[in-house]
Amino acid sequence: MACLCPTMGSVLYHLFMNHVGGEHVYDTLLSLDMVGVCLVNTLGAIPIIYITLLCYPSVQQTALLVYILLSAHGIYCATTARTNVRRLRSFVWQALFRFSLFLFRVYGSGVGSPNSLRLFVIMDCLALLGGLVNIVQIPERFKPGLFDNWGNSHQIMHVMVICSIIYLHWGTLEDLAWIKSYQCPAE
Ligand SMILES: [Zn+2]
Repeated sequence: MACLCPTMGSVLYHLFMNHVGGEHVYDTLLSLDMVGVCLVNTLGAIPIIYITLLCYPSVQQTALLVYILLSAHGIYCATTARTNVRRLRSFVWQALFRFSLFLFRVYGSGVGSPNSLRLFVIMDCLALLGGLVNIVQIPERFKPGLFDNWGNSHQIMHVMVICSIIYLHWGTLEDLAWIKSYQCPAE
């Protein structure tokens, strides 16, 4: 679901972008696109939180709850934002939460497959880079009109997001295979 939601949301948004219904239809479609992005951020992180805090069940449950609340706040901000900068900023809390989980895996007692963390870091970097490219509007900023059909920042962003989703898929597969044979150390 995490992998499919943003893809479906973006396809629907772009497919009906030429609708003549005016601003109202456009805003609804854009919100749908944003909900897709929020869902991959939310659902995609749940297995990561679950596995990283596997050996601390009460912390794990609390972290899952906090992350879902943060995500609900993020979804509200992203769907009501009026600018691209604000839209990207809606995801800051989720990103910081995941970043602290990664730190806990590297320097603390977080667990998980030794191969998945690298994939998750690439995933987040690609997504962040995609969001930034979309905001700074490179390359069309330098040659207005030349990239209207191909190679504009928005398309680059979508390609990066798709790659990011593939890394999420690979990382989660690594973790799920790893969890089958892992036993938390006894107290
Ligand atoms: Zn798009």
